[in-house]
Amino acid sequence: MVSFSAPIVSLAAPRLQDTGEELVIVIDPGHGGENEGTDTSAILEKYRTLITAQAMYEELLKYEGITVYMTRTEDVDMSLRERAEFAASVGADYLFSLHYNASEEHAMYGTEIWIPSTAPYIDYGYQFAEVWLGEMSAMGLHNRGVKTKIKNNGDEYYGVIREGKKFGITTVILEHCHLDAEQDAAFFDTEEKERNFGRADATAVAKYFGLKSTVLGVDYSGTELVQASLPDLGIPPMSFSTAPETCELELTEQNEESGEVKFIINASDSNELLEYYEYSLDGGESWQGIATWPGYAHNAARNQESAEFYLTLPREKDTEVRVRVYNAYDQKTESNTVNVHFEYQDELAAAALEWEKAHNGDTGIPKTDSTENGENNAGDSTVITGYPAEGTDIFYDSFYGFDVSENAGGQENAENTQHGKMRNDRLIILIAIGAGTVATLIVIFLSLKKKGKEDKKRNRRK
Ligand SMILES: [Zn+2]
Repeated sequence: MVSFSAPIVSLAAPRLQDTGEELVIVIDPGHGGENEGTDTSAILEKYRTLITAQAMYEELLKYEGITVYMTRTEDVDMSLRERAEFAASVGADYLFSLHYNASEEHAMYGTEIWIPSTAPYIDYGYQFAEVWLGEMSAMGLHNRGVKTKIKNNGDEYYGVIREGKKFGITTVILEHCHLDAEQDAAFFDTEEKERNFGRADATAVAKYFGLKSTVLGVDYSGTELVQASLPDLGIPPMSFSTAPETCELELTEQNEESGEVKFIINASDSNELLEYYEYSLDGGESWQGIATWPGYAHNAARNQESAEFYLTLPREKDTEVRVRVYNAYDQKTESNTVNVHFEYQDELAAAALEWEKAHNGDTGIPKTDSTENGENNAGDSTVITGYPAEGTDIFYDSFYGFDVSENAGGQENAENTQHGKMRNDRLIILIAIGAGTVATLIVIFLSLKKKGKEDKKRNRRK
């Protein structure tokens, strides 16, 4: 789909080295005034966009052959129409609207860019987007890719893109990162980092337009852009997005000793890329551990439909594991629930039962018949309290001591060893009970015999 070595196609935006004309770009710090933007972090989005825009502006001034404007330089209200009108009034070649993101689930992280959905703007937008995403990825951000969104009537969904198009100006929305994502926190937690974004934005603009800077000692006139031609872009508008079609969770291996379990997630989406997945340990009540779907790449034609997934679970109770996958447009599908049960739980219950028998002399069966059907009801017995819950944590990279290829039999051996140990423990308890009982009987017998002799003596005395 994308070729970096291909020549620039005619649909590309005019570049400085091609036209020799002065380039005019307008930077739009998103929101302002009453329109505060995302308030999911300590500092409102409207202030952050202003800091980033100011840094982008200052950086771009270091390049030759470019005139730069900002739609606002203070915390003031400005409609989307007014922003586009301003850009048109100064003869802008391109309008960049700067933003910071937040997601409905407060789960998504990374960087993304919204571009117009129709030619020729989609091509200009796409070519810039790939350069800009390259800068963001180089900073270490997860790359959420290039996106379009339209309304039911076919208009652009985002007002600033819609209004820009009315004036024939390619307008893109730069969503630098998510202010409600801890994965992104390290990218925006100081003003200097917000300025870093602005400088990276400026570098992307300079590369896209092939600018030179004597001050910075750089010459981007040779920068090649990705080839963009509409039929090949394959960017479905978010408006028509559907959730992933399938998401199935399968427990494939279970280590009875360590509590480590391995799952396979099978998921598919015929329209969009699978981008994230996360898990629940309470059957879907709460979710955690969101991570990038293995093999995800923002510009891949398709991604893999199967992923390995590892957890370490507490062995003394059942855990209802469920996963869900998100596609690149935040649509999600949940899997079936897998109940993970360890035999350790049954063994604990059985050992505790023996202990009770030995200490209380209670030889009766408790009201929960865990000996007959321990699989299902051992967990609700109170006898296992006092054993601390084991920690539950996820590890994606390694799954030590549990190599699938070599250890299929090893795991079984470990189980058998453990069973053997438990059986020995029980045997010792039974022997102890047996010995105790025999000893007691002997003592009783001897004492009765003695008493009998004494009685005989007493009787004789009488
Ligand atoms: Zn915004």
